[in-house]
Amino acid sequence: MSDHRADDKGPGGPADTGAGKRASSTTTDPLELIEQCLASFPENDPRQQILYKLRHSVMLSAASQQQRDAEFKKISEVVAKLTAPANRIGTLLDLPGEGLARIVVGGAEYYANVDPRVAAADLKIGAQILVNEAYAVIKTLGYDLNGPVLKLTEALPDGRLRFEQEMGRQSMILQRSSDLVGVELKAGDELRIDPGHRIAIEKLEDRKAKTHVLDEVPTVTWEQIGGQQEAISAIRKAIEYPLLHAETFEQFKFTQPKGFLLYGPPGCGKTLIGQAAAASLSKLVSESMAAGGKTETLPAITGGAFLHIKGPEILNMWLGESERMVRDLFAKARARRREGALPFIFIDEAESILGTRRASRSFNISSTLVPMFCSEMDGIESLRDVVIILASNRPDLIDPAVLRPGRIDRKIKVSRPNRESAAEILKVYLTNELPLDQALIAERGGDKTKAFASLVDGVIDQIYKRTDENRLLSIRLRSGQNKVLYRGDLVSGAILSSIVQRAKETAIDRMIQSGQSVGLIAQDLSDAVLAEFREGEMLPPDDAAEEWLKLLDHHPEQVVGVSSFRRGRQTEERLINQII
Ligand code: ADP
Repeated sequence: MSDHRADDKGPGGPADTGAGKRASSTTTDPLELIEQCLASFPENDPRQQILYKLRHSVMLSAASQQQRDAEFKKISEVVAKLTAPANRIGTLLDLPGEGLARIVVGGAEYYANVDPRVAAADLKIGAQILVNEAYAVIKTLGYDLNGPVLKLTEALPDGRLRFEQEMGRQSMILQRSSDLVGVELKAGDELRIDPGHRIAIEKLEDRKAKTHVLDEVPTVTWEQIGGQQEAISAIRKAIEYPLLHAETFEQFKFTQPKGFLLYGPPGCGKTLIGQAAAASLSKLVSESMAAGGKTETLPAITGGAFLHIKGPEILNMWLGESERMVRDLFAKARARRREGALPFIFIDEAESILGTRRASRSFNISSTLVPMFCSEMDGIESLRDVVIILASNRPDLIDPAVLRPGRIDRKIKVSRPNRESAAEILKVYLTNELPLDQALIAERGGDKTKAFASLVDGVIDQIYKRTDENRLLSIRLRSGQNKVLYRGDLVSGAILSSIVQRAKETAIDRMIQSGQSVGLIAQDLSDAVLAEFREGEMLPPDDAAEEWLKLLDHHPEQVVGVSSFRRGRQTEERLINQII
């Protein structure tokens, strides 16, 4: 109908009137045609009503047509998407020329075109790319986030990277990803490579940094150590004599040791003694060098360095990692020496890495670490280069190869303090200048030193009394003998220093709360003793037999059973070392 109308109303047609300006157009739009009709009818013509209705219904049908069109378009798009073949994912290997890419897709390599719409900055070597059916690169996806991690064997001069694989597998040479170009890489660095083993993608954070090698300048003096006279004089003899009397040693063709082993229960001052030895020896050597001692190829010693590491921290689950750490440790010590410091390597819990096969719970550790350690040690010329101190509470487990003459052939015992030594240790911490209870001083005739001595005596009595309250353990020896161990039998320098620390905290609290200068009182110390030995805190759990053995002064193999006096009652005996 509208067509018909349109024909009728063509320009200059019979229905053309001056009133409808739009009539001059050749429109076929039904709404406009209706408008033209309406305009051509006289006012109040009843046909107008019909045309209004027609206009309304035409408008409605146009709107629903529009909606149908939109839905159809959407469905067509979905159908196109779902029926299109998937794009393959590959890896970009190289960009040999403008608009060209060398790619690997599913193991096969292609020389492909690159869609010019892909931004050049996104085209990174090693990145994942999307290719269409024609294998043209149409999109980049960034680096794959997964992939194996390998340890670098060598960075070749042309930038390529060589990786030696374990267990007899072939070694590999890989190229660097765009982000690795120019990055300084060294043997041992860990790199993540793309899953197709073609490109090294990224360098992983150096895990070695997490291992704790404490490198400090030793400042501990012999005076800061309470008791331990025997151990101290043995060490001084072991390290000072060869330096002070080098000629006498030479006359006797005596092989100088490279260090010593300190053994004994935990917390009794092995580390402290090592640090004091480092401070004192470096001072001695620097003095003897300044006084025109032997001329050396290395710079003169002007200070000390104390490289402290715990054996178990060297043990690493990564194959070859522990060896590298030991090598690094010695390298670090040599570097310190070149800087003019006398380096001491202190290895705590040394049995964990230098143990006999029986000692090392993980296989193969001792078989590779011990010979390596020995050869590093043999590379050290004298005590003026590097000094090694091993600390252990299981010296029986250390491989005898480590303890041969010329290596670590001095074993020095650092025992638990007896009454006298414990008093010496307390005196190191309870010094005369600390604020002290005036009443206590008055009781001792105004003599502060005597007052402190009485405090110390009080603590010693409290700890060493053979009372039921002080009972800690019962052990059964191989000989069949049963022995009860009291607090005094398991006390250590660490426990004594911690008792004083606790007492000081109480006194400080009291002074702050009351605002009065009260100072330490005897009660602070006796409370601190009780708190320190409080059930469960200093003793290992009942089932940790190995830990128990570390605490005892008896040879571990002689102990067959242990039980503790928790809550005053004796617990069931734990049997250990039954079958040896
Ligand atoms: P170890 O190396 O034998 O496990 P440490 O030397 O680390 O023991 O001692 C731990 C802490 O205990 C020291 O820092 C020190 O505060 C205290 N301590 C241990 N033995 C003594 C001692 N003989 N004299 C003074 N303080 C000691």
